[in-house]
Amino acid sequence: MLFDTSKANIEELHDELFAEKQVSVSVLRLDKIHPLVSGNKLFKLHYFLEESINSSHPAGSGGKTVLTFGGAYSNHLSATAYACKVLQLKSVGIVRGEKPEQLSHTLQQCLQDGMQLQFISRQQYIQKDDPAFINSLKATYGECVIIPEGGYHPLGAKGAALIMDLVKDKSYTHICTATGTATTLAGILMAARSEQTVVGFPVLKGITDIKNNIIKLTEKVAEFENLLVLNNYHFGGYAKKTDLLIQFMNQCWLKHQLPLDFVYTAKMLFGTFDAVKNDTFTRGSKILCLHTGGLQGNKSLPLNTLLF
Ligand SMILES: *Cc1c(COP(=O)(O)O)cnc(C)c1O
Repeated sequence: MLFDTSKANIEELHDELFAEKQVSVSVLRLDKIHPLVSGNKLFKLHYFLEESINSSHPAGSGGKTVLTFGGAYSNHLSATAYACKVLQLKSVGIVRGEKPEQLSHTLQQCLQDGMQLQFISRQQYIQKDDPAFINSLKATYGECVIIPEGGYHPLGAKGAALIMDLVKDKSYTHICTATGTATTLAGILMAARSEQTVVGFPVLKGITDIKNNIIKLTEKVAEFENLLVLNNYHFGGYAKKTDLLIQFMNQCWLKHQLPLDFVYTAKMLFGTFDAVKNDTFTRGSKILCLHTGGLQGNKSLPLNTLLF
């Protein structure tokens, strides 16, 4: 890895529910790698960053510029900005929507980390993967390493697979992860043993193409038989939340000293508790939940919503 991942430990959660159901639930704390930068995002960036480092910049200084895309609250943008700062690479963020008067915390962080931001209209953003648009970006910023939004690319999945290198204990029966683009899920599936069930918790509403996405991301034709997708924990859709979810986050903090983000990890862990409750995870299951980070996103919540 290009980053120090030694702080990412595995912690077991002790809860009456788990004792009653005779399961164990542990959390891989990827959030501890960095206080703000999303844990899984650094992994998804790995091979793109390597490509940039290994190619020399046309102007002769350092690696190629890294260019990527995201919205105003994107964990991916903030992780890219941070990673490029650490590795002394130039970074450019193409941001969805007109420039607002007040920049989000996320975008302020990106600027502080030296990322150059370009705002484009939503109509233009939809066409961001068109060759003509990509060429116009190259004309502006020079030859660069272009990372699709959210790292959604086989190289992103290959990077996410490195997460499993941190899991030395191979006896987990289930690996749970929050799912957006499914790039992380695809990587975990590639690295997991076939007898381990990999459980995705989509945070978007009405997701039906996960299996196709995984085929694209893993470049594997056959479906993974050890994939389980639990679709009922999106809480209304992407970045939507309810009082119940916020209560759950505060409870997890008080009881387990576990900080969660409301967009991804809270939904995944809520889903894990619920799946234990309703016996989706059977007795004897040894469950590992990935804390994929994302805590910077909580800064967009009103003050005093969370106890941490
Ligand atoms: C982006 C993100 C995810 C989802 O990852 P995908 O690879 O897009 O599915 C999960 N958790 C956090 C905290 C994230 O920032």
